[in-house]
Amino acid sequence: MNNRWLRDTIRNLEPYAVPVVRESIVINANESPYNIFDFPAVRAEFFSRLRSLASNRYPDPMAQELCAVLAAYAGAAPDQILAGNGGDEIIGLVLHTFVNPGDDVLIHSPTFDVYGIVAASLGANVCAVPDDHDFQRNADVFRKTVHAMQPKVTFICNPNNPTGHLWPLEDIAAIAAASDNPVVVDEAYVEFSGQDSAVSLLKKHDNLIIIRTLSKAFGLAGFRIGYAVAGKRVINALTLTKEAYNLNSVSQLMGIVAVGHSEEILRQTVPTVVANRTYLTAELNRLEGIRAYDSAANFILVKVPDGPAVTAALKRADICARVYGDGVLADCIRISVTTREVAELLITVFSGGKHYA
Ligand code: PMP
Repeated sequence: MNNRWLRDTIRNLEPYAVPVVRESIVINANESPYNIFDFPAVRAEFFSRLRSLASNRYPDPMAQELCAVLAAYAGAAPDQILAGNGGDEIIGLVLHTFVNPGDDVLIHSPTFDVYGIVAASLGANVCAVPDDHDFQRNADVFRKTVHAMQPKVTFICNPNNPTGHLWPLEDIAAIAAASDNPVVVDEAYVEFSGQDSAVSLLKKHDNLIIIRTLSKAFGLAGFRIGYAVAGKRVINALTLTKEAYNLNSVSQLMGIVAVGHSEEILRQTVPTVVANRTYLTAELNRLEGIRAYDSAANFILVKVPDGPAVTAALKRADICARVYGDGVLADCIRISVTTREVAELLITVFSGGKHYA
């Protein structure tokens, strides 16, 4: 193919590469260790309703029943919710709705790659505020940058992927107040943070767009269900570029059933992951030369003296983790927190146990 066929803004783009997983312990994508079908009540209701699903009919274009349950779960009104094909689709919709070529899009760095990739593909000018030492974000510096630059869209990942750093809601509110434009708060991991969602700030800050997902705490990554929570007019704007039938009927049904059982699901999944996170962070920090950063999410960023050696050791232990090769994340490895068994295995590997040499 002739490279000149490509749109100018994507000619030099690096794709968001998802490597093939060959290992059997998969902790590279912050997935849940729990399969939703292991909850008997969820399983029974889903399959019973699936039987009467009309495959020949298009799905509800606005996923109204799902939006109603998501609204109740998130503490918003149904017209403040837009459901999408994962949080990824919502990120794309936000950028496609608000960004012109040449506009500034502000992120903090390091963070989730997708914001910058999609913004760049639209010809935006992606600007990044780097973290302070030890991946601590400086809310004051970020707020002042927002105020001075007035980026067309600002992204805040809270808790941040891949560092796990959490900004309190006061900082989010101050950043929203500093901007005349949309400010996105990506809360993919908020259920693990022990902090309330920024949804409560919407009343005062109508430029906020909160992104949530059922991929993480609900263990539904395979069903691709994400959503935006924002003011009604912002939600209407986000539908301008949405594909009519963006969320398929089976996913809509699963979302409705899962959120209907949210208490039962989250009661089992979140406290276990949080307890294992505390344990794993403490144990890893006891090891010489290893730094496990405090995380408010279901993963931990770990800095090691020799990244390639630990990566090889993890592979030998049949573990697939997320490895970062360069820049500020050189020698850093991000591990999803799952079961105590996996935590024990990780401690052995990171301590230079039998898989290390
Ligand atoms: N935001 C963040 C910060 C993420 O880490 C992810 C998934 N890795 C997403 C959004 C997208 O999640 P999904 O599309 O599965 O809802």
